[in-house]
Amino acid sequence: MRNFFSQFFQGRYGSYGMDKLTRFLLILSVIALIVSLCSPFGILYYVAFALLIYSYFRLLSKNITKRYKENESFIRIEQKIRLFFRKTQNNFVQRKHYHIYTCPQCKQKIRIPKGAGTIMVRCPKCMTEFKKKA
Ligand SMILES: [Zn+2]
Repeated sequence: MRNFFSQFFQGRYGSYGMDKLTRFLLILSVIALIVSLCSPFGILYYVAFALLIYSYFRLLSKNITKRYKENESFIRIEQKIRLFFRKTQNNFVQRKHYHIYTCPQCKQKIRIPKGAGTIMVRCPKCMTEFKKKA
């Protein structure tokens, strides 16, 4: 049986193991399936099915270079999304302690600690001064 599988996967993308994109697609299809079963979004059932087929298509594909590149772009996008969330989270934490002002001249973002009263803010980029209440 093991031999059969290794022969079956010979020269196919899946013979290198499951990549990140395939794993992601499979998890997504399971989530779509569960949601479709316990919600009125019946269409998700087809989405789940399509994702499953696509995952298998990737595993059985013989165009290894192309699948590899797909996975690479997926990882790049994933990193961008992660970075975006980290930035958003960071902004949220900063907003608790700082006011974020935008320079009227050059649109540079300037961070001022809260509770400083009315102050003159000088833009570090273009040296424009403007009054703000912190
Ligand atoms: Zn400025």
